Amino acid sequence: MTRDTQEANRVTPEIMAKYEAVIGLEVHVQLKTRTKAFCGCSTRFGDAPNSNTCPVCLGLPGALPVLNRRARELAIRAALALECKIQERSVFARKNYFYPDLPKGYQISQYELPLALAGSLKIEAEGAAKRIGITRVHMEEDAAKNLHEGFADSDRWSYIDYNRCGTPLIEIVSEPDIRTPAEAYSYLTTLKQVLEYTEVSDCNMEEGSLRCDANVSVRLRGAPKFGTKVEAKNLNSFRYLAHALEYEIERQIGVMEAGGTVTQETRLWNVAGGRTEAMRSKEFAHDYRYFPDPDLLPLTASAALVEQVRAAMPELPDAKRARFVSEYGIAEYDAGVLTATRALAGYFEAVARAGAPARAAATWISVELLRRLKDAGKEIEDCPLAPAALAELLAIVERGEITAASGKRVFATMFDTGKKAREIIASEGMAQISDPGAIETIARAVIAKNPENLAKYRGGSEGVFKYFVGQVIKESRGQANPQIVNEILKRVLAEA
Ligand code: ADP
Ligand code: ZN
Ligand code: MG
Repeated sequence: MTRDTQEANRVTPEIMAKYEAVIGLEVHVQLKTRTKAFCGCSTRFGDAPNSNTCPVCLGLPGALPVLNRRARELAIRAALALECKIQERSVFARKNYFYPDLPKGYQISQYELPLALAGSLKIEAEGAAKRIGITRVHMEEDAAKNLHEGFADSDRWSYIDYNRCGTPLIEIVSEPDIRTPAEAYSYLTTLKQVLEYTEVSDCNMEEGSLRCDANVSVRLRGAPKFGTKVEAKNLNSFRYLAHALEYEIERQIGVMEAGGTVTQETRLWNVAGGRTEAMRSKEFAHDYRYFPDPDLLPLTASAALVEQVRAAMPELPDAKRARFVSEYGIAEYDAGVLTATRALAGYFEAVARAGAPARAAATWISVELLRRLKDAGKEIEDCPLAPAALAELLAIVERGEITAASGKRVFATMFDTGKKAREIIASEGMAQISDPGAIETIARAVIAKNPENLAKYRGGSEGVFKYFVGQVIKESRGQANPQIVNEILKRVLAEA
């Protein structure tokens, strides 16, 4: 088949609907260890190029690898969080290939006997919950980083930074259970959340500590067998993953509709072009001449060690969400928003524990605070409002010392200036107006200014009452107690 027939043909939504996509993801995650997988070099990101290297990670003759215990522990933790079966004995294997970023000429990985098998991850997409099978989780080491510079042929440079070489990774391979780009997106988001919660990895996609390759094929709906799969690489953001899959699904359907067959190959996502491009024909496992690494003992994960890791496992997102609902009586939806990251969940709990009414805390954090953080381009980790300070404000609003409307103004000022709620309320004279006399004066003035609305009210229009309430509260700069405004307006309107 020529290259042309492998390129995209436009297909109509009707044709698209005849087909179904089948997707499996392979995710590489850098483990959050201080040192590398098989030597004592630092894994710190951003250090001077080639400053964190030694004979082991540079593959010098005679150097011997020793497995980092912490890496083993984190890999087991990830496998447990993904409900895998941990193998008591797994084996490191050499995956042989030549590439300048791989000085030994092979990568230490796991092949026939991986660390863990047969797990699953619950995701939600398009309103439905679904379980995606995890085929395997295995340990391996990262390669170095190639950097290319310049465009003109006469002035092009390539550099290699070996700092990353030998950093511990796990590879998480999913079953081909994913059916849509939205499900793939949700799988990756949920996986990232679990790995962050368990502190297995910081999952920073910009720094490359979370990387995803997608395998995708299409078949006619109801067809018994999977189609030929294509592997898409270079998907270094969530958006690229979804876009590349959408593009690739349509391309493959186009090839099939034109009477062709999809070629099994590796394709690269071209960000600028918004398309995938053929990179190389598919390589097969036998090409790599895998064999057990004679320099390393088998990796052991005894039942005792696995139990120890399980016992030290931090609370997972699902468990936290359920606990927030039962312990704090907040809505399922809010619990989902508040547990999006462990840091945000921690913030909410700190506010609730500092004495704020939990439901109010949930609403204020998920609406007001998240909006302000977003506008300010800040993460919850750099929130200028301490949990105790927010708790104090919420308690003041709860007791009715100021109205909710004033509370929002105080909140904004606290966020911008770091001042305490009490200070702002005192200096701006915001205390809630509950004095019936003062409210009545405002109410009468509002009615006097609105003769047409008064007539409508007399004519039996209910909506106008709400208008009057709103006007009185507005005239009081949001300080009048809404309940008292209601009572007084009813009386004054009846008399008017
Ligand atoms: P390979 O031998 O090419 O490495 P694997 O069977 O190991 O293939 O699968 C690699 C990834 O591709 C897994 O995530 C798997 O779920 C997925 N996969 C396998 N077959 C298909 C298919 N026909 N369509 C889409 N994805 C697939
Ligand atoms: Zn080293
Ligand atoms: Mg494979």
